[in-house]
Amino acid sequence: MRIENFFTALKWDNELHNISEILHSQIHFQFPNITPYDILVAIYSIQMFLITKKVQEENILITTDMHIHSHFSIDSASSIMDCCESAITKKIKRICITDHVELNPEINKKEGNYFYDVEAYFDSIKQARDTYGDKLTILSGVEIGGGPHYYPLEYEKYLQLPYDFIMCSVHDWYDSMFASQMAVHPMPLEESFGYYWDEVYKSVCYGRFDALAHIDFPKRYYLQAVYEWDKISAILDVMIEKGIALEINTSSIRKGMDEPMPSKELLDFYKKRGGKYITLGSDAHYAEDIAADFGIFDTPLIEGLIPVWYQGRERKV
Ligand SMILES: [Zn+2]
Ligand SMILES: [Zn+2]
Repeated sequence: MRIENFFTALKWDNELHNISEILHSQIHFQFPNITPYDILVAIYSIQMFLITKKVQEENILITTDMHIHSHFSIDSASSIMDCCESAITKKIKRICITDHVELNPEINKKEGNYFYDVEAYFDSIKQARDTYGDKLTILSGVEIGGGPHYYPLEYEKYLQLPYDFIMCSVHDWYDSMFASQMAVHPMPLEESFGYYWDEVYKSVCYGRFDALAHIDFPKRYYLQAVYEWDKISAILDVMIEKGIALEINTSSIRKGMDEPMPSKELLDFYKKRGGKYITLGSDAHYAEDIAADFGIFDTPLIEGLIPVWYQGRERKV
């Protein structure tokens, strides 16, 4: 194997075992004590070294925001142009505009999410790229809510569109009520989280998206979380197996909490189960909130995890 092919192959985890076997078969005559496992560990170390170096060089932790809303979402008034200007001012290199698509028609009726105009959205993305493309990478994305498994035909339509990044989230899990309404009505915390984890599990099992947004989302409105670890481990195992990244979303900090979604406790649990890939998102609904509180990524919070971004639905480091 040529050296450049070797390094290219490092990007795909499922290739690592094969590579270690190949290398082992080539060198075990000279080094009989080396096992394929030793080689695998060495490859992982090289991979982490290269990623850390790249992250340091590009300062990627605070220069890529993969979760931003524009006025194509019912709950934002910022134009995509506003978002670009704010990002450039903050020296952000990449932004992904991930407007809401709620597949649940009940939510659509209540929240007016028929509002999303996909053609106008892609036109605006093009216009923004024409204007700011030399200063900023503008990625197209979507935040799909409502449970893709309940609306397979509608979901399929969005999967066919030329998005760079598809994110899924669960915003309603009982009687088509948004989380903020449940917290006020009130729906008891434990009960609400119980339903919520079940819905997240169904969404990740259905899959076909790149990242799961704000995994402990009810926390944003209840201001505390109930972690049912058996359900969470089932969710994370499916995500890891399917290669779905876990988003770290800083919007809970703007709601007055001292931690992002998810908490460090859940991130450590993700790591322990073998999770690696994370996306970083502000969930900004105002252009000025782009990359808000990204300073927290300059702490041990994400140690051992790999921040990624997506272009043409391909994972990039
Ligand atoms: Zn959301
Ligand atoms: Zn969002």
